This record gives sequence, structure tokens and C-alpha cells, in this order.
Amino acid sequence: MFDCLFCKIAAGEIPSNKVYEDETVYAFYDIDPQAPTHFLVIPKDHIGSVAEVTPENAAVVAHIFAVIAKVARDLGLASYRVVSNIGEQAGQSVHHLHFHVLGGRDMTWPPG
Ligand code: 5GP
Ligand code: ZN
Repeated sequence: MFDCLFCKIAAGEIPSNKVYEDETVYAFYDIDPQAPTHFLVIPKDHIGSVAEVTPENAAVVAHIFAVIAKVARDLGLASYRVVSNIGEQAGQSVHHLHFHVLGGRDMTWPPG
């Protein structure tokens, strides 16, 4: 059986601190927050990373960004950063597409 941590979190098989859910998208707080507010937004269907986004599955990515805007608004975040790591060199540790949303502190650029 396909073993994916975020597929299991989206299915409710592994507990998480949910911030938003609908039919196709799940959002939850990161277990190791890197900012005062740090949540992740994922598609419920498995996509490995941004590198696996295609014309056929791209609609859920647009929806994810609408969810990011709504949740950030609901949480009162006026300024925040959205990050997705792709591959080992960029620091991707979970191979299920996810967008980090970080806010509540000053950010630096370029990122590390
Ligand atoms: P990546 O390193 O792939 O860009 O991001 C993966 C993120 O998932 C990390 O920020 C990590 O803290 C978070 N994470 C890993 N395992 C779990 C978990 O079991 N629960 C939650 N809520 N977050 C997790
Ligand atoms: Zn998955």
C-alpha cells in the first residue's frame, strides 16, 4: 500500500491540528512551527510536489491559493509568506505537495 504521511493526515488517519478542510483541500498547523503562525495547505489527492503539477491537476492548486487567502484573512494575517520546497536540495522532507504559510514575524530575503 502507498505510504504517505500527508495522505494519512488528510484522511484523518493521523491526527493533526486542522485549520481548514473541504472536499479537495486540507490545512493544518505545522508540527514544528517556524513562525508564530505556520500552517500547511495540501490537496487531499496525492501529488508529489509542484514538479508534478500538470494541466490535468492544476485546478486544485488554484483552489489551494484561494484557501490560503481565506485562512490567512480569518487568522488576521495581513502579511505572510507562502513557500513550497521541491526536491532534496530545496529541503522537501514530505513528498506530498504542500504550501507552507508563515506569518506573525519579520521575514528576511533571500531565504536560507
Ligand atoms: P518540507 O520540509 O517538506 O518543506 O515540509 C514538511 C513540513 O511538514 C515540515 O515543516 C514539518 O515540520 C511538517 N511535518 C512533518 N511531519 C508532520 C506531522 O506529522 N504533522 C504535522 N502537523 N506537520 C508535520
Ligand atoms: Zn500523499
